[in-house]
Amino acid sequence: MTEKSEGFFDAVIVGAGIAGMYMLYRLRELGLSTRVIEKASDVGGTWYWNRYPGARCDTDTMEYSYSFCEELQQEWEWSTRYPTQPEILHYLNHVADRFDLRPDILFNTQVQSAYFNEGTGHWQVQTENGAEFTAQFLIMATGCLSTPNTPPFDGIDTFTGPIYHTGRWPHKEVDFSGQRVGIIGTGSSGVQSIPVIAQQADQLIVFQRSAQYSVPARNRPVDPELVAEIKADYAGFRARNRLEYAGQLSHIPRNDFSALSVASVERERIYEERWQTGGFPFFGSFNDIMRDQKANETAAEFVRRKIRAVVKDPKVADMLCPTHTIACKRPVLDSNFFETFNQDNVLLVDIHSVPIQEIIPTGLRTADTNYELDTIIIATGFDAMTGTLLKIDIRGRKGLRLQDKWSAGPLNYLGLSISGFPNFFTITGPGSPSVLVNMVVAIEQHVEWVADCIDYMRGNEKKSIESILAAEHEWVDHVNNVAEGTLSPTCNSWYLGANIPGKTRVYMPLHDFPAYVKKCEELVANGYEGFLFSS
Ligand code: FAD
Ligand code: NAP
Repeated sequence: MTEKSEGFFDAVIVGAGIAGMYMLYRLRELGLSTRVIEKASDVGGTWYWNRYPGARCDTDTMEYSYSFCEELQQEWEWSTRYPTQPEILHYLNHVADRFDLRPDILFNTQVQSAYFNEGTGHWQVQTENGAEFTAQFLIMATGCLSTPNTPPFDGIDTFTGPIYHTGRWPHKEVDFSGQRVGIIGTGSSGVQSIPVIAQQADQLIVFQRSAQYSVPARNRPVDPELVAEIKADYAGFRARNRLEYAGQLSHIPRNDFSALSVASVERERIYEERWQTGGFPFFGSFNDIMRDQKANETAAEFVRRKIRAVVKDPKVADMLCPTHTIACKRPVLDSNFFETFNQDNVLLVDIHSVPIQEIIPTGLRTADTNYELDTIIIATGFDAMTGTLLKIDIRGRKGLRLQDKWSAGPLNYLGLSISGFPNFFTITGPGSPSVLVNMVVAIEQHVEWVADCIDYMRGNEKKSIESILAAEHEWVDHVNNVAEGTLSPTCNSWYLGANIPGKTRVYMPLHDFPAYVKKCEELVANGYEGFLFSS
């Protein structure tokens, strides 16, 4: 392949998901020449790649959408409380069409490396097919959950049937009729797909390493009255949500009292009411579920009782009952997940006690059994938050490699900026609230902060910006201290990097969205405290 220069742009954005699309929109508004580079053949990011059966949003539909354009939010009609992947992708395509974004997006192109040229003060961005782009600003909108994790099971290449990862699902419909299907993993992706696949497959074998707490989604058609009420003051609704701890659900806020401050009958009534509501409000039943182990245990035991009430075989129910801290892994919502294990064609296999030994040509082998399978589904998640950035060879000043800078964890400031990497921004990077928040809200806040910063620089003849190393150390300590004040670090979650063998364990996302927004605003008011400019 020949190297070809694609010329100079004010900004290159990597990724055309929700973040990259909005970043492009904002930079165009500022008059910057911008090129978005996207590996996929179209827009959508998460919603382009995750096409597995049952894939849908678990943030309430009136909240999981852009708020930046009043006409857009007024004109778009959602069908259900938690829209499906095709519906969300349709929405994102509508946004791309409505704002004519595609002419500035280069699809089917993967960024392989990016170097900061200290001579010119510009980034040089190379793609897999040998093209090179030069830009003043490089903005990584590469996603927190965009690099699938496929564990290196022995013998994986010998399997004679198809293997699908939920995060790289084919575009054509997969028909499981008459098949013996095995699925490994019971996180959100597994929990969403298992009930749907179990409807079609002859037999579904679920290989579970950790049991999973899950709350019913209670998906249903949108309530036209609620929609009308929200649309009458959509801006106010969005503003109220931004003031919530996780940037969402202002209409069903967290109860501001302890689970241990009420009698057990009252506690049960509150859990039950929120269980019937469905969705994330369950985790806001009390204000100390994530702060006090005893309070947490009341929620955990409530869910375990629900599992035992649904699952008919007591041995299977036991296997499905988790024991770890509830909600220290990303909470999961389901539609008939536990009910599915009452079906005769569904088998649950505990691979914690008896691990998978290898994949064989005809299926999968654990220490005590050979499972014959036609298809294997890998639902083992993602190398979250850092994986996608570290796959790209990114080098800052003096050739400093991001892989080296982050060898002991993602040292950066605010999840936005990295010292030694001038004019380089990460949207919802590690150290920002990102995945603990309705992500569209987190993305919009970051995109707007970056756009405002670039606008400021252009208005004040600043050539470059980067964070100060001392500010980064303080920030990473702060993120971890905040997490230590909660029960979040008490289990093996991807928030900690614990799902990837060998990955440095650092708690990556930051709790408390409103406090973070305040910090971002204050430091700007104080002349971009923690940052260094060059003129
Ligand atoms: P992404 O959507 O991940 O987009 C990143 C893009 O960058 C991708 O298109 C990728 O191809 C591209 N890219 C990466 N590396 C390169 C490269 N080297 N070269 C070129 N292109 C590259 N969040 C919620 O708040 N609520 C939900 O209900 C919710 N549901 C989810 C369901 C699933 C199945 C998953 C996986 C995640 C979900 N999330 C949810 C999180 C979701 O990732 C975010 O809500 C949001 O879609 C992220 O958008 P993004 O643009 O930041 O990243
Ligand atoms: P995940 O939450 O990381 O779950 C992965 C599952 O695979 C877990 O059950 C895990 O077990 C298991 N696993 C991992 N490595 C394994 C191995 N080597 N052997 C056997 N089992 C293994 O991944 P995910 O379900 O794809 O979800 C990732 C995130 O994407 C979610 O947390 C959420 O943020 C987002 N998401 C959201 C939705 C939604 O509802 N809108 C849907 C899908 C995804 P352990 O628990 O033991 O590690």
